[in-house]
Order: sequence, then C-alpha cells, then structure tokens
Amino acid sequence: MTVMSHLFYQSRQPRPFLDHGEGIYLYDTEGKTYIDGSSGAMVSNIGHSNPRVLAAMKAQMDKATFGYRLHFQTEASERLAAQTAALMPKGLDRVFFVSGGSEAVESAIKLARQYALTQGQDSRWKVISRYPSYHGSTLGALALTGYDPLSKPFAPMMRAMPKIAAPTCYLDTDNLDDDQRGLKYAELLRDKILAEGPDSVLAFIMEPVGGASTGALVAPDSYYARIREICDEFGILLIYDEVMTGAGRTGKFIAAEHWGITPDIIALSKGFAAGYAPLGAMVARGDMVEAVLDAGGFLHGYTYAGNPLACAAGCAVLDEIARNDLVGNAAAMGDLLKARLTGLMDRFPFIGDVRGLGLLLAFELVSDRDTLAPLPKELNAYTRLVDLAYERGLIIYSRRTRGGIEGDHFMVAPPLIVNEAQIGEIMATLTDSLEAMAREMALPVRA
Ligand code: PLP
Repeated sequence: MTVMSHLFYQSRQPRPFLDHGEGIYLYDTEGKTYIDGSSGAMVSNIGHSNPRVLAAMKAQMDKATFGYRLHFQTEASERLAAQTAALMPKGLDRVFFVSGGSEAVESAIKLARQYALTQGQDSRWKVISRYPSYHGSTLGALALTGYDPLSKPFAPMMRAMPKIAAPTCYLDTDNLDDDQRGLKYAELLRDKILAEGPDSVLAFIMEPVGGASTGALVAPDSYYARIREICDEFGILLIYDEVMTGAGRTGKFIAAEHWGITPDIIALSKGFAAGYAPLGAMVARGDMVEAVLDAGGFLHGYTYAGNPLACAAGCAVLDEIARNDLVGNAAAMGDLLKARLTGLMDRFPFIGDVRGLGLLLAFELVSDRDTLAPLPKELNAYTRLVDLAYERGLIIYSRRTRGGIEGDHFMVAPPLIVNEAQIGEIMATLTDSLEAMAREMALPVRA
C-alpha cells in the first residue's frame, strides 16, 4: 500500500495501517497478524483493547473529558493519585500528572531544583546521569540522555550535564565478582560528585533497569544500595526514571522494590496508562512538595495535566494490573522467557548476552562470544533482524549501541498478560527469524 501522508516522524518509510488490537496481538488493514513482542515501545503492559479499560474510559467520556486543573479537581485524577501513591515506597505520596515520560522527567528535575531553593541551596543545579541512557526527547530530558546520535545536534541549545558510565559489567574483563563490580560502578558517582563540587550537584537520575539505550541492563545488587548511600552522603536527590520499568514491567510494580530502594522522586509513564491514553506521573516525597508549596508553589505544569479521560484510563489500568496479578505474571513469564532466550545461545553462537528483569528482556548479538566483540556495523543486524521478524509477524525493538562500544541489542518485552503458549509463539518466530538472518549474513548456526 502506498502511503501519502501529511504526518512525519523519523523517516519516509511507510508502515502498514493498524486496524485493531486484541490482547498481545495487533492486526493491520490487510489482515496480517502481529505479536506485539515489545508492547510497542514497552507501553502496552495490559495488552490491547481491554474491555474494562475501554468501558471505564467511555463512562468518563460520557461525563467530562476536560476540566482545567486550576478550575477543578476530578474524581478520576484524585482516585488515580491515591491509587498510585499506595503503590509507591513509604513517603513518596505526592503525585503530579503529565502526558508522557519526557514531561515526567522534566517535572522531576524542576521540582528537585525548586526544592533545593527552599533549602537555601541555590548553588545546586547539576543533574548527573549515566552514559548510555535515555530520559526523553525534550531539551531538559535530552540533556540528561546519554545517547550522542540523539543529543549531539542539539548540544549548543542545552546546558551540558555531567555523566558517569552505566554499569555495563558484562563487558568488563577484570577479576572482580558481581558485588565488587557493582560497587566499582557506583563509586563513579562519588568521584563525579567530588569532581563537580558537591555543592553544585542537585540530583542523580538513573533507569533502574536500562531501556533501549542499554538493552535491559541490570546492575549487580550492590550498585543500588551504594548509589543511595552516596546521594545521602552529599545531600543529593535520587531520581528513578521508571518510565519504562514502572507499572509491573520488571516483575515488581516499580523496579526500585527489587532492591528496597526509596528514591526521592520517581518518573512514570508508558505502562502507567498502557497506551490507552497519553499519561505519565512524577511521584515525589511529601515533605519536598510541601516545602515547594510553602515557598509559593511549583512553577511548572502542562495544560493537559490530570486530564480526566487519561486518569480514568490510568485507574482502570491499575485495577487490571491488580485484578489479574500482572506483576506476578510478569515475574513468572519473565523467568520463563529469559530461560528460553538463554536457550537460544546453544543454537546461535552469535548471541553474546541475554539480560533483563521480569518482562523487560534483551539479547545482544556479537561476532565473538568470548570477547563480546560486536558484529560488523555494516551488517546492520539491529534493523535486519527486526525486519525479518516483522515480516514473520513478530514485533521486537532494537538499537545499536552500548557503553562506549557499538553493539546490536534487541528488546523482547511482550505485554504482561502473555501466557506460556504465547511465549512459545514468540520463540518460534524469533528462532525462525534468527535462522533467516544467519543464512543471509553467513553467521554460524549449531544443529
Ligand atoms: N525515560 C525513559 C526511561 C524512557 O524509556 C522514555 C521513552 O522511551 C522516556 C523517558 C521518554 O518518554 P516519552 O517518549 O513518553 O516522552
């Protein structure tokens, strides 16, 4: 089908027209079925066309679709704020709604800055982040994003923010054990704070499990606790960007629960309204919000914030996550899928690493499993495998990058409703696609 469109996104490449979705499947207007193996961009956590969510949205639509936040509170936004706060670590009980992940991150760093001002800490403004990382596409969030292809063209328009290396332990060749490696990477934060001057540092932001920028990178346990300690040592706020990891994706409602960490601010979006409406949230410590309100209020907000239709969708999504124990299912199905992906390493020696937590999983392709040297860039494996899978009706998500070194990785992150039989379908199509790619690129396959 030729697409004449007034839309533009990244490229001119036409895409099939989406007709409808149901559960973990999407259908185009030509009648082709796709398994949504990446939940879009790790968004559709409860699957497509959930009738309870649609009914809740319809009920809200019949009442009101907009009431400006300075004029009205709505039952939907109040209820969603209470539901969200109940799922957060103790003390993080204030919720600020936005329409997406970048907005949640922008809100987090601006709240942090205003809170510092209330504490007489005017000199604190630097937000340290990691490389590689992704925190959003607006200029504030992009300044924190450690991914040069996206940020470089805009560098003159942004204030450069300090970065430390993400804990890409799997690439390390030293003799440290996991615990020591975690501490080694956490100390990079302490070194950076000292180098920048502790009084100038406002916050540290991290994705607890990396997203597409690192391919589901998980740090050793020791990393998380040490990062919290270092932030506390210097009075620096810890922001968890849980835009991708939140809402059950990693097998806990928020990933911070895996390590018992209480950040000062959490950014949520993606699975929070699971694609039913544009919605995100910044959740912050109550005492920080009170201090900012006492000082005259938060100097930040978006017109669509707290939109009742989006909030009604959010409430219904959280209800569905609880009703079907999708967090538990993400943990159980995540273990199964990770074991099945790891099993592929026997057949395909060019799979160098399988990683992730819950249903936020990734595998990385290499030309040598011992050195983890990447495949040659010219092979464009990261796009070719995605295309081969897409032709066969499986959607996965890919990037070519990793800490300073180039590499191809693929996210496999189906909706949290996925069952064992559907994991079998995903694996069958993925195996077939890997075989096709291996044939094309003359890569070795074991019988
Ligand atoms: N933060 C993280 C960790 C993300 O993965 C993303 C999107 O991929 C964002 C922020 C930005 O979210 P959005 O695209 O909704 O603005």
